[in-house]
Amino acid sequence: MRVASRLVVSRERVMTMLVTFFGTRGSSPVSGPASIKYGGNTTCLRIESESLPKDHWLVVDAGTGFIPLSDEALKAGVKGLTVLSTHYHPDHTQGALMSSLVHRKVVQLYWYGPQENGTGPLQMLQTEMKPPRFPVAFAEVASHFTCKGIEHPSGKVIVIHPEGGLRLLTVEELERIEAAAIPQVAMGKARYPLGSCLVIRMLRSNHPERTISYRFEERPTGRVFAFLTDHENQDGIPRMLRAHLSGADLLVMDCQYTREAYDDATAGFGHGTPDFCARVSTYGRGQAPRADPPRSGCFGCSG
Ligand SMILES: [Zn+2]
Repeated sequence: MRVASRLVVSRERVMTMLVTFFGTRGSSPVSGPASIKYGGNTTCLRIESESLPKDHWLVVDAGTGFIPLSDEALKAGVKGLTVLSTHYHPDHTQGALMSSLVHRKVVQLYWYGPQENGTGPLQMLQTEMKPPRFPVAFAEVASHFTCKGIEHPSGKVIVIHPEGGLRLLTVEELERIEAAAIPQVAMGKARYPLGSCLVIRMLRSNHPERTISYRFEERPTGRVFAFLTDHENQDGIPRMLRAHLSGADLLVMDCQYTREAYDDATAGFGHGTPDFCARVSTYGRGQAPRADPPRSGCFGCSG
């Protein structure tokens, strides 16, 4: 089931950043009356912004919500789609196996994600799509894929321009561009104004295995959306995390467990609780869509 939770980060005269959730569950997909409101699919969301190239979709994670998203992207006639993986646990990747985009080969797919111990997006896909575990080997569908593993995410930024496309820069390179009299990013043979771009910063979250939290800065409007899934409670809020979330117009984060469940059994599993989200949400406007499979709803926090 697709959940059409559309969170409007900005709706200004020209520019608009929209976030649509196609999957909100953690750990495993669920179905039944209790999951009707927020859907039963695992993590997948689409970011819309006029700083993105036309006919190109930007997606975070490929949980089972990636399956209905893929069908919508095909219907919309997209030419390219970029997936930003937070990490490779199954609830964030298992939608790739049954995605029409993966098997139809009519849309160019660009897949970014953390690189750790020799595993990045390419190795994840090669491992997941491999007989006898899955009937189609990744090599059979790989021709329309470009995969890029990111080794040091907090030192890198992704910059996207509607005409120039996507470029991966170091934070230092971005700072040099920002300090220039006319801030421009070189993409291919041309240079484009940084002020027209979507800038995506990355920070490692508090979760087993290397996991990335993405911060989306829509430069033409100054609007910011931060996605902090799969992040466990911390006693103090690290300075780098505060900077990563600061000024976010919309913050979406993980509160998979109730405080009681966390204290009783799930501490150390890499997920948060509503009271922790409420603390962190003082750095941005909070929403908490990641729900434990048995839970019926979305227990949001706002601040
Ligand atoms: Zn995880």
